[in-house]
Parts: sequence; structure tokens; C-alpha cells
Amino acid sequence: MGASNADEELRLLDDVLRSLPPAAVNDLLTLRLCPQCILRLFGKYGPIYTHYSRISTVLAEVVQHQPSSDDPLLKESANEDGICSVCFGILQFICVDEKQTLVNKGCASDFAALIYELARKDGHQADSLSLEVSIPPIIVENENAVRLSMKQKYSSEDWFQEMLQSEFISVKDALKLSITEPLETLLGVKSGSSSFRVRLTYTSSEMPMKTDNGKENNQGSKKRKIGRRSEITDTEVHLKQCSDSLQEIKSFRPLEKISACSLEVLCSSTPIYIGGRYLKYSRNVSQSRWIIDDERMGEASVEEIVGTSILPLCKGDNYKFHAAGREDIDVRMLGSGRPFLLEIQNPRMLPSELSLKEMETKINSLEGKLVKVKNLKVVDEQGWTLMREGEAEKQKQYAALVWISRQLEDKDLVTISSLKDLKLLQRTPVRVLHRRSPLEREKIIHSMSIEKMSGSTQYFLLHLCTQAGTYIKEFVHGDLGRTYPSLGSILGCRVEILQLDVTDVKMDCFLTE
Ligand SMILES: [Zn+2]
Repeated sequence: MGASNADEELRLLDDVLRSLPPAAVNDLLTLRLCPQCILRLFGKYGPIYTHYSRISTVLAEVVQHQPSSDDPLLKESANEDGICSVCFGILQFICVDEKQTLVNKGCASDFAALIYELARKDGHQADSLSLEVSIPPIIVENENAVRLSMKQKYSSEDWFQEMLQSEFISVKDALKLSITEPLETLLGVKSGSSSFRVRLTYTSSEMPMKTDNGKENNQGSKKRKIGRRSEITDTEVHLKQCSDSLQEIKSFRPLEKISACSLEVLCSSTPIYIGGRYLKYSRNVSQSRWIIDDERMGEASVEEIVGTSILPLCKGDNYKFHAAGREDIDVRMLGSGRPFLLEIQNPRMLPSELSLKEMETKINSLEGKLVKVKNLKVVDEQGWTLMREGEAEKQKQYAALVWISRQLEDKDLVTISSLKDLKLLQRTPVRVLHRRSPLEREKIIHSMSIEKMSGSTQYFLLHLCTQAGTYIKEFVHGDLGRTYPSLGSILGCRVEILQLDVTDVKMDCFLTE
């Protein structure tokens, strides 16, 4: 901005300030409102009103020839700290930080720098910004009370009627308006609906006053969530209601000792999701962390191997592992793997394609090689939907090592491979009855085949393609008749399952990089 523009701006500011009604300005100064709050009450808000010292000077000039209030209450309680009696310092950028230190930043850009520093320390790399502000109810009450006092005294004046027409800017909106731009500049991003949130929570030890009739006068605070428009309407309604029963209302009196609000700054990011597929080569690794009576089941879990590796890459606070279905701890997961999503909570950074590729290599070369991952990539919420939708419809392929109580005959191979889309009734398996409700489900075995093993007539490999959710172990041994038909009932002998592998999960999800 050129010098002449700046001069022009200051001239404009002076004109606005000098047009304000001196008596009312004097009242507000006497009530110890900060310049920002005074201007807000007159509906003046914008970039030109950020020249705080100029405003203070000119406002003092405006009221120079006005006698100061003789109200002894106001005189005695002169506020040494100069903290505004309405916004409690919020619009003066005065607050008490988390170390209980009084912070006085004086201007919006210095205050924005403070917030920026906190976000940077927390390690966030923002690509946009969403700013949220929460203020204590007492401040809303202060605002209402001051406006009411003005109405009581000046409602017949033209400027007051004019003021009612202009948009009232709340402390919350005024703070947002003043710090958003400097914060955008510092972070190098634009604000809007963002995955990166900065939340400023102001709290005060002061509680909203009770009015004489005992009704709590905090109408504004109950409706904190409402938008600016309806807040205005509410205040108008409130003012009208108040004027109808003036006797019951206390006009605004500043507190004797005003303490700055405590400020908590919380920076957070919405979760990101890393999709991929995992393979599990161990019969002693569970899908999720599995602890019974403080004792770990199995030597590790897919969840922990994948989660603890990827979490530091995104600099997140925590992770959640979601998979499309599950296999038992003693079942290997082979073939193209099982789709999963890793949810990273409060991530500080979005991993690059390259870093995910490197992470894949790192996980796949971990000692023991219990678990492998593939096709890792950052996915949006649609990835979630895709996985959940696919899960219900998917088909799964298995290979089971099976023993039968008699010799395997060639006609068994024909019998088994001729069965297509075989319908089963499965009652909840005995082994999961303690955690699943007893139900009867119909499931389908799409196809089966027997692969003979050389040198054995009672052991063979059974390949199956089934509907999702079929209990394979139970289909093989029959589960005391709870699954029917079963391989045992079809072959007419006793059948046991020794080992099981998932050889494929037929889903399109995360199948490619
Ligand atoms: Zn103020």
C-alpha cells in the first residue's frame, strides 16, 4: 500500500471516529471498554480499525470536552491493567497462557505469531486453515448488558436507531476477522473448511450474573452454536424483551477487578487414511492386538506391525486399524492379500508416495517377515466406503490341509468338484459362541476341488471358493452337526482340518498401486 493510501485510510478513520456521538463514546470509555469494543458497538469493523493507538488518541480527543462521569463506583474501580470490561482483553490480545503467564500482544499480527509458533512447535504442516474460537458466556452477557444500557439512555437518538440497523460483530467474529489474515500469511495457507484446525478456547472464572428476578441472564451463551445472523436477531429480541421490563434489568457495571481470560490453543488435523493390502505368513500372529488377562496371544499382530511403522511417518498421535474381514490367528493370509485401512489420528504430515513405497519395503523386510504389505497409498473417505461395500459382497478363496478317517478315493475328487454353489446352514460355531449371538446363517460354497498329496491317502488339500463370512473350519469338520452339509457329511466319514490359509480375497479394493 502506498503512503498516500495509508494517509487516506487514516483520514477516513479519523472522520469515522469524529462522527461518533461524543456523549456515548464518553460513557463507553468511562465503562472502560476497549476501542475495539466501542467501535463494534457502533457497527464499525474492518481493516482500517486496526490502528489501535490512533483510535485511542482520536477517541480521547472526541470526548475531550465532555465532563467525565461522576459516578463514584466507576471512579473507584479504575482498572490499572487497562483490560476491557466487556471482552476481558480478548480483542486487546491480552490473555493468560497455559503456563499461567499474562500475555499482552497488543496487536493482531503479534498475537497471530504466537498462535503460529504453537502450531509450528506441535509439528503441523497445514495446507489450509480452519479457525475456531470459543468465548466464555460472561462476555456475551457483557455485550448484551452494554447494548441495553445504551438503549436505555440513547434509544431516542437518531444515531442509536442507525446503529441498530448495522450489523453487530460479536467478540468471537471480531477476533476471527482480525487474526485470520495474519495467520494465513504466517502459515502460507488460505482459510476455509480445512483438515487443519486451530481452536482458541477462552475461559473466565467470572460467571454470568443473576438478574434481580433470579433468572440467569445468559441467553447468548445458551445459543453459542448459532450463526452471526441469528445472534443479532436474538440480541434484538433480547433488547426488546428487556425494554418491556426495564425495572428487572441491571444495566452494565464493569467488574471491580477484571482478569484476562485463560487461553488454550489446540492445533489438530482430521484423520488421514492409508489403504493397502496385507499378507500374513505366520500362524502365530493375530490380525488385531489380542490380550487376554494381561497375556499376549500370539507373537505379534498385523495391526501393531503396520500401525507402529506408519504412525511415525505421518507424525500422528494414534492409529486405528480397519480390515475387510478377518482371519483366525492360526490362518495365514496369502494371495493378493486382505484390504485394510490405517486411520492416523491428528497427523502432522501427509506421507508422499515415495515415502510410502519406502515404508512398504521397510515393513516387508522386518525381522521374521511375519507380515507383508502392498499397494500402500493415502486414500480419501471413499476408500473407506469402497472397502466396507466390497466386504459384504466379496468371495474368498481358501486352501485347507484336511485329514479323513478313511482312504481318499478317486470318486471323492469327482463328487467334490461337481458341487457348485452349495448352500449350507451354519449355526454360530461352538468356538465363538461366547462372543457371538447364536444364529443360523445360510452360506454358499461356490466351488471346491481336492488336490492329492503325494505319498498320502488320508491327507489332502481342499481348495474352496466361498461367500464372505463362511466358517471354513466348521464346514470341514461339521461342528457337531451345527454346520450342514459339511465335508464330513458329504464324504460320509470323520474329517479334521489341520491347517487353513486364505489364498485370495476377491475385492477390487487396493488391488493396484
Ligand atoms: Zn474489548
